[in-house]
Amino acid sequence: MSLPALQSMVDPFGRHVTYLRVSVTDRCDFRCSYCMSEHMTFLPKKDLLTLEELDRLCTAFVAKGVRKLRITGGEPLVRKNIMWLFRALARHLASGTLDELTLTTNGSQLPKYAAELRDAGVKRINVSLDTLRPDRFKAITRWGDFSQVMAGIEAAEKAGLAIKLNAVALKGVNEDEIADLLTFAHGRGFDLTLIETMPMGDIDGDRTDQYLPLSIVRARLMDRFTLENIPYRTGGPARYVRVKETGGRLGFITPMTHNFCESCNRVRLTCTGTLYMCLGQDDAADLRSPLRASADDALLAEAIDRAIARKPKGHDFVIDRRTRQPAVARHMSVTGG
Ligand code: SAM
Ligand code: SF4
Repeated sequence: MSLPALQSMVDPFGRHVTYLRVSVTDRCDFRCSYCMSEHMTFLPKKDLLTLEELDRLCTAFVAKGVRKLRITGGEPLVRKNIMWLFRALARHLASGTLDELTLTTNGSQLPKYAAELRDAGVKRINVSLDTLRPDRFKAITRWGDFSQVMAGIEAAEKAGLAIKLNAVALKGVNEDEIADLLTFAHGRGFDLTLIETMPMGDIDGDRTDQYLPLSIVRARLMDRFTLENIPYRTGGPARYVRVKETGGRLGFITPMTHNFCESCNRVRLTCTGTLYMCLGQDDAADLRSPLRASADDALLAEAIDRAIARKPKGHDFVIDRRTRQPAVARHMSVTGG
């Protein structure tokens, strides 16, 4: 059971901020076509917060009422010594001030880290998997190795981690495979969540070519499966159905076709200490300066309060033939999805 928050952060629209996503690196060992261009310029390593600083920032948010921490990236598991951060943050699980410590990963490093993650108190993980076909996997991720990710998923299962698969629905790329992904996920006892592509950052191609509304995917699935709305929530933006034929859960993240901002409980921290109050807006707060200005957390706490006080009502993503510019210039790998 959750303990009451030590303090709480409430934004101008009365939404309680209880969920922090932390992008610990903007780097990645993949180059997914909808996420990055093949030739990305990453931040100089010297601009990154140290793991100790990230721990201090996360701890400040926990003291302010954050109950769920998601470590993401870029690929979080390629950051050097990242297990130190998981082990450090686990103390908040032990003390009862944090309900959940989790991560989103492309799975490539799970053969190495799954057991350690479980030991650090991680219980559930999100693994991104857009296809079950090795050749297609290569085409989508450019640099990824399908068998390595499958080995990662197996290692996570073996370690006893609950797995949710995330798949971005891509027009003309994996739209013919959504039912297979569902059957695969539910057959293994995993949840599956489908995501619409969001217009973030320049990629090499044209997003209008990739955008597939989930309303269409859902209608197609209903030809084969019975989808029953269920009230299940994980604290994130997905809305879930139960698939009668498989017994499994299927989530839909629909930032484009259905605005999910009314119930937004999240803020996002980058690896340089910039806090984004909304995934789809440019406004951000610098937390690195107050963090480094004093060993005491008072300045940091004030900066967080000022930032939460201007959390915007929502995003206004648009993908159409007239709007070719990304809604925000930064890539998803900066704020971590
Ligand atoms: N590298 C890890 C991974 O792929 O799971 C974590 C970071 S990744 C940015 C987090 C999630 O964002 C992934 O599920 C990915 O598919 C999704 N994603 C990336 N770019 C996206 C975009 N433009 N629109 C929608 N989802 C995107
Ligand atoms: Fe890397 Fe994840 Fe982006 Fe793919 S979606 S390039 S794995 S950060």
